[in-house]
Amino acid sequence: MPPPALAIRGPRSLLRQIREAMAGGGPTQAKLGAVVRTIAVSMVAEVCSIYLRRATGEMELFATEGLDPGAIHVTQLKPGEGLVGEIMRLGGPLNLSDAPNHPAFSYRPETGEDPFHAFLGVPLLRGGRAIGVLVVQNRTSRIYAEDDVEDLQIIAMVLAEMVAAGDLLSREELKDVEIAPRRPERLKGAKFADGLAFGVAVLHEAPVAVGRLLSDDSAAEEGRLAAAIGDLQAQIDAMLDGHEGILGASYDVLETYKMLAHSRSWNHSLQEAVHSGLTAEAAVERVRSEHRAGIGQARDPYLRERVHDLEDLNDRLLRHLSGDGGKARSLPDNAILIARNLGPADLLEYDRAKLRGLLLEEGSSASHAAIVARALDIPCVGRIAGLRDRVNEGDPVIVDAEMGEAYLRPRPDVVKAVTARMGVRAERRAEFARLRDTPAFTRDGVKITLLMNAGLAVDFDILPETGAEGIGLFRTEFQFMVSEDLPRLNAQAALYARVLDAAGDLPVTFRTLDLGGDKVLPYLEAEREDNPALGWRAVRMGLDRPALLRIQLRALIAAVAGRPLRVMFPLVASVEEFRAARALVDREIAWASRRGRPGPSRLDVGAMIEAPSLIWHLDALLPMTDFVSIGTNDLMQYLFAADRGNPRVSDRYDVLSPPALRALSTIKEACIATGTPVSVCGEIAGRPLEAFALLALGFDRLSMPPVGIGPVKQMVLSCDREAARRGLEPLLKSAAGSVRGEVEALARKLAVAL
Ligand code: PEP
Ligand code: MG
Repeated sequence: MPPPALAIRGPRSLLRQIREAMAGGGPTQAKLGAVVRTIAVSMVAEVCSIYLRRATGEMELFATEGLDPGAIHVTQLKPGEGLVGEIMRLGGPLNLSDAPNHPAFSYRPETGEDPFHAFLGVPLLRGGRAIGVLVVQNRTSRIYAEDDVEDLQIIAMVLAEMVAAGDLLSREELKDVEIAPRRPERLKGAKFADGLAFGVAVLHEAPVAVGRLLSDDSAAEEGRLAAAIGDLQAQIDAMLDGHEGILGASYDVLETYKMLAHSRSWNHSLQEAVHSGLTAEAAVERVRSEHRAGIGQARDPYLRERVHDLEDLNDRLLRHLSGDGGKARSLPDNAILIARNLGPADLLEYDRAKLRGLLLEEGSSASHAAIVARALDIPCVGRIAGLRDRVNEGDPVIVDAEMGEAYLRPRPDVVKAVTARMGVRAERRAEFARLRDTPAFTRDGVKITLLMNAGLAVDFDILPETGAEGIGLFRTEFQFMVSEDLPRLNAQAALYARVLDAAGDLPVTFRTLDLGGDKVLPYLEAEREDNPALGWRAVRMGLDRPALLRIQLRALIAAVAGRPLRVMFPLVASVEEFRAARALVDREIAWASRRGRPGPSRLDVGAMIEAPSLIWHLDALLPMTDFVSIGTNDLMQYLFAADRGNPRVSDRYDVLSPPALRALSTIKEACIATGTPVSVCGEIAGRPLEAFALLALGFDRLSMPPVGIGPVKQMVLSCDREAARRGLEPLLKSAAGSVRGEVEALARKLAVAL
């Protein structure tokens, strides 16, 4: 016969009983005992136990009702051991009708748990991290009802907070219980943006504020929740407003996001959680962990994307609850941002002046979050496994992007050593700054033009400091990525005019919108595609929806107002595409002239070479262009069929390899033959060793992130180009997969500064 269902529906009155059980002083161990007793009685469970994690990782029985009391502080399970270990691993509930028959069950005679078959365990979650496990057991085999699971999870969440607050255990008893990681740790990752930083951790996915879990006034909390949901929905509706016509089908994806925000089940779950006695914030956390556990395991990429949407909605809702209108949080003065992954727009929402560093659990060095980090000169280490679990908000943190490492709660000697290295870096920077006005001539007298890549206002503000001779790539989509809303013609023209004003006589090459792929806009998200990098992006989107591209060209023509215009198109894959894009420019110039507006004093229209197809059609393409620029980030991803945003493949192939170098050499030769100016504007142009190889191949125009200019100039000044050319030539014929070592040896032999 199944045991009776829970005597009391909903955890609310149980939470009250727990609070009563705890009131009135007494030894803390007794309090914990009273808590498990109260839960057991109210849930009609024969056993209720609490396990907490020791700093060593072991799970220890801290209190029990129903098991042998002699097992308290005696029963310990190794990390991952037993059903308790399984719950910690899952981060979610385990509901079993016959526990002893589960493969993970670990028999402990001292507990006397033999007779109990039904088992329900849930993690004690705090800020998304499990600090222990709460278990109820009954003799008779049965699966606990969904409501029981739900109730026990809410109780566990509150208990986790009480344990952490020291309400249930004394300081002494808590001494080596791992409420939060406290020991210094050093985690390995991958360098995404060079540099060193020391500061305090700020979690991008902010945990719910401690101490605001339980509410005394559910009605008031329900009101707050309803108001915040209303604000959130209004904000999302406003984002969508008026954009239907512009990107057609891609509007649907945002519609899905909107539907989620309005989804009745999401709203209902939140209200239920508040009704059970939680604050609105705690309810959001509660429903979030449920979703994570539910669809987080899903393999379907579409479902996994929805997890991302839901996470984002939850974050926005928390921000609305905190009363700051859904905007990103303000930062302490020396913030190190910690996130699972970031979209490029996410990073830009934070105050640059206070952001010292960035640590990511996922990501890849060619993803746009990494590019934005480099553009902003924010040291960034990514792909740090388990990062979010190991760091607490406010922890001191070192980002050592030079070594691709992070130090959490570093020891004083580590802080000292890193601070010293930061000093050395500052000196090197000062040295580069001194080179600012030195023209970049190689030792054998070849002038190399060093340009910078830009896209944000901060970039062109620093143009004069870098000594760059112009902007070789202005990524216009960044303005779209930082906006809450689609930038209108006037806003676009105003930004372009500012760039041109800041550049003065220096040339600026604007690239038309390069959206799609990994550059998705919150308000104009691209349609879901199986292969976004090979999908509807860049100039393809621009030609299919000419309204967006034409408005942009119109804004550019208005901004130059009689000055020269240099514009290029991203991801051109065929000569027809270039021809059609170029025709749009002519059409807009004619349009302006019909209205008596000044056209550009000089017009240069170029193509980015990013699709390998063009390499075998340069004879047709180059005569149609005024210049070309090689986007090696994309060219390499398509050449090697390796997604630049996927860490498993993005660093698998080397640009310093015969196929890549030969492809670049072919392009350069064709440009020489047709007299077409060519530059390289991918990230490699900003790395001294790769830039050395580009010089050796004959390139003399390089456009790079601003931080690359000093080191690359130093390399140029120390390089004999002819000797480099002679040294590289045989390497192009090498049978090796990579010739990085050989290129490096060559540079060292020629005493090139790297
Ligand atoms: C490139 O692909 O190399 C490039 C410069 O463009 P983006 O990185 O913006 O795609
Ligand atoms: Mg590109």
